[in-house]
Amino acid sequence: MTDLQDLVDRASRIVFFGGAGVSTESGIPDFRSQDGLYHMQYKYPPEEILSHDFFFRETGEFFRFYRDKLIGYEASPNAAHKKLAELERAGKLSAVITQNIDGLHQAAGSKRVLELHGSVARNTCLRCGKKYGLEEIRRQEGVPHCSCGGIIKPDVVLYGESLDDGVIAEAIRALRSADLLIVAGTSLAVYPAAGLIRYYRGKDVAVINLDPLPLPSDAFFFQGKVGEILGRIKA
Ligand code: NAD
Repeated sequence: MTDLQDLVDRASRIVFFGGAGVSTESGIPDFRSQDGLYHMQYKYPPEEILSHDFFFRETGEFFRFYRDKLIGYEASPNAAHKKLAELERAGKLSAVITQNIDGLHQAAGSKRVLELHGSVARNTCLRCGKKYGLEEIRRQEGVPHCSCGGIIKPDVVLYGESLDDGVIAEAIRALRSADLLIVAGTSLAVYPAAGLIRYYRGKDVAVINLDPLPLPSDAFFFQGKVGEILGRIKA
């Protein structure tokens, strides 16, 4: 059986494509696992709360959920985030493409992180365009407001909003030149992000996930926790 170390050893331009499951070992719940946000009870389903229309219709309710479930954690990078940063430093990994918005790849030291769904670390006033960090959102209560009086909106891509063209183009470039694609901690259910992996032209695909994924049968599937599995790899 091919092991992940062999795949990593023979690659020189690894691209990692990950999702919420990469951060569950840091204590941030994903969406679709048993302990995920979709199995918790709210007044509205999470995909409705995290939508563009809901943000403008029920801004207070949006921020209640957002504060409680998406920024209410003091999370630190886990073994997966750290190993990916190490692989990049070793010159073996060319990009991390993530659907996560938690900034943990950068916190672990990764430099080329393509955040398909934006980041909780960046926030913009809807009236004057002033930029804020996460600390300002945490410092305020309820709906965060700018010094000009405008509402501050997190730079995260809500359902019903478009992905950033520049980030997509860079992700496609990285995928096209990769020689190993590692897909991990994602249900591949959120589009268009999940569709990007079709731009990969290489031969080897490694999947590290708790649940099997709908990928071609020649992909190598390593079932288990991404932090535990990647953590054992030598860069
Ligand atoms: P998802 O919740 O749909 O799926 C998570 C997948 O990861 C599942 O298949 C699950 O079995 C697997 N998984 C969970 N923990 C794992 C672990 N330790 N090791 C290996 N596999 C594990 O997540 P998704 O596909 O990323 O889609 C959800 C969307 O929600 C994304 O667009 C993302 O932006 C957003 N989200 C982000 C965060 C975050 O930033 N940390 C958290 C929740 C949701």
